[in-house]
Order: sequence, then structure tokens, then C-alpha cells
Amino acid sequence: MTPFLQTRGLRHCPACGARAGIRIIYGSPPMEVYFLHERGEVVLGECRRDKSSPNWHCKVCGHRWVERAERAMH
Ligand SMILES: [Zn+2]
Repeated sequence: MTPFLQTRGLRHCPACGARAGIRIIYGSPPMEVYFLHERGEVVLGECRRDKSSPNWHCKVCGHRWVERAERAMH
């Protein structure tokens, strides 16, 4: 089980309120993340991220935001 698979699940979008927020995965993800990407469950971000990079993306309105609860990622 990779940490990436623990990132599944939708968040409520702070911009439009839809429950359509999916994770943005940075870096070079393992194959299973590409499968999630093809199914629209995650978004692949740029290879480089900094502290201000958003980690959630709304599939409805395209809004991106930062949520600070990333213990599963580390
Ligand atoms: Zn939205």
C-alpha cells in the first residue's frame, strides 16, 4: 500500500461548494497513481512544488486550493 492511495476521497470545494475536490499529486508518481488519474480521481501537478502549491483541485469549477492535513503523505 503506497501513501498515494490513502489520498483518495473527495473534498468540498471552498469556491463552488461541490463535493468534487480531488488530490493534486506532485513529483513522479507510481503506476497506480496514473490509473487513478485516468479515472479522474487525482490530478497530476507540476514536477516541482513549494509550500504555496495547491494540493486540491475541483473537478466542477477548476478551483485549486491548499489544505494542510498531509500526514498521510509523509
Ligand atoms: Zn468548485
